[in-house]
Amino acid sequence: MEHFVDAHCHFNRAAFSDYTGAGRFICNAVTMEDWEPLAAVARADTRISVALGVHPWHIAGLHTGWTDALRRMLGENPHAAVGEIGLDATHDNPDAQCNAFIAQYLIAADMGRAAHIHCVRAWDKMLHLLKTLPRAPVIVAHRFSGNTHILRALCAMSDNIYFSYRDVSGPRTRDAVAETPLHRILVETDGFAPAPAAIARTISDIAQIRGMSAADMANIIYDNSLRVVNNGQIA
Ligand SMILES: [Zn+2]
Repeated sequence: MEHFVDAHCHFNRAAFSDYTGAGRFICNAVTMEDWEPLAAVARADTRISVALGVHPWHIAGLHTGWTDALRRMLGENPHAAVGEIGLDATHDNPDAQCNAFIAQYLIAADMGRAAHIHCVRAWDKMLHLLKTLPRAPVIVAHRFSGNTHILRALCAMSDNIYFSYRDVSGPRTRDAVAETPLHRILVETDGFAPAPAAIARTISDIAQIRGMSAADMANIIYDNSLRVVNNGQIA
């Protein structure tokens, strides 16, 4: 596959420097320490786009001024998105997660950047926040595994939300894939190394669910991904 975008992955230097193949990769930060190296990699390697932020698992111990540091990094890296940010009910600090999410999402909205969102068992709360807060130009629901009820509520709330899929074999995810607007589908590995075969497999699974050819689906998803990479600007 020549043209594809892994809409959500993480950067591992050895894996990416050994890779000479095609594709583009949206590499997400999880801690503040990721920001500088990721930004440097994105400047040096045109295959790589980055999202800078702090993952909900890693918000403990953030020092005062970290949101100013994020604003500064984004200012210096005008193509960077914000991510991965979110809410995760399997971790036991909901208030701190919520505050960190809101702070970062507002920066994405204010600076016109895509927000790459991790949400696990917290979609009701997330929906409420997304409905009430100023809107980021692009929202990516990374590794989406919500049901069709959540999917419909998210689509009704926003015409700029994308659903990024990894494994679509479970019945709930298959139902969600069947209902996702075609121009809002993305694919991802959430991995640490380029994996074109895994991306191709997910695209072909989605194509099969939607009764389309894998080639047509790959083209649609590629165009969708470019809008995301460009923070909602027309590619
Ligand atoms: Zn991730």
